[in-house]
Amino acid sequence: MTPSDWDRLTDQLPAWLESSRKESHKGRPASYIPELAHAQGDALGIVLLTGEGKEISAGDAGLTFTMQSISKVFTLMLALIDHGEEGVFRKVGMEPTGDDFNSMLKLELVEPGIPFNPLINAGAIAISSLIRGDRPAEKVERILSFFRLLTGDPNLAYNEAVYHSESATAHRNRSLAYFLKDNRVLEEADDVEEVLDVYFKHCSVDVNCRHLARMALVLALNGKDPDSGALLVPRRYVQIAKTFMLSCGMYNASGEFALQVGLPAKSGVAGGILTLVPGQCGIGVVGPALNDKGNSIAGVHLLRTLSETFDWSMF
Ligand code: GLU
Repeated sequence: MTPSDWDRLTDQLPAWLESSRKESHKGRPASYIPELAHAQGDALGIVLLTGEGKEISAGDAGLTFTMQSISKVFTLMLALIDHGEEGVFRKVGMEPTGDDFNSMLKLELVEPGIPFNPLINAGAIAISSLIRGDRPAEKVERILSFFRLLTGDPNLAYNEAVYHSESATAHRNRSLAYFLKDNRVLEEADDVEEVLDVYFKHCSVDVNCRHLARMALVLALNGKDPDSGALLVPRRYVQIAKTFMLSCGMYNASGEFALQVGLPAKSGVAGGILTLVPGQCGIGVVGPALNDKGNSIAGVHLLRTLSETFDWSMF
């Protein structure tokens, strides 16, 4: 970002944010996980971190919320570190699906019965089974350590209330997981409830926009730690993660987001969006009011404004 772009961003971000916030009344917080329904619908926050160490935030940037599906990008990278591409793509496909995030219908269509991709729920549950560790607690600890490394926050933890709320009501994810077991995507040794427990816990990790921006910046820098320059994730695995973000990171609005914003992104049902400008910056957004596709309505609006203003689209 040029110095004059940065000045313009500093100057205008608060106003752009307030105008996007007005969109939030058109959506509402997710309620199928009961605990998420308490979120403040008109909250909107953003943090942007650049590779040169500049940082800017606006609105409700300090809000804490759970990662939900955004965590799937990072469990995918950890599974790739643990098993390599061959090991991972035996369990999940590489194709986008335009279906709802928890689609059951399309699950059956990829041969030989594996989920379409690692970012839909069925795929992410399969990925949870691949995280190394003797016991579920050890797997969760490895996931948390990895997320702590990427956020730079040693205190990152999952939210007990959201975890319990999801676990108690996850009938659909349970049925997906048992279906995976029946299709032998989950193996003999995989206890379905234990795999689900790992999945619910990584979805429930509490973050704020800065955490997301830091994780996104690592992706923007092809796996490098923004502070030390150390390689945290092999470049190829970052490339795989970003490709899935672009093709299926925004549920069945991924094509629309690619047209309107043109950046790899992943959203979660708590209203978070993690996105990045390759080589330049990481961005974390939160706006709990969701549109009918499950994405933050005000968050998408704000990212569209930024992308159009600074010509960020990769295309
Ligand atoms: N834990 C949520 C679920 O499995 C994640 C959904 C999402 O953010 O898309 O339903």
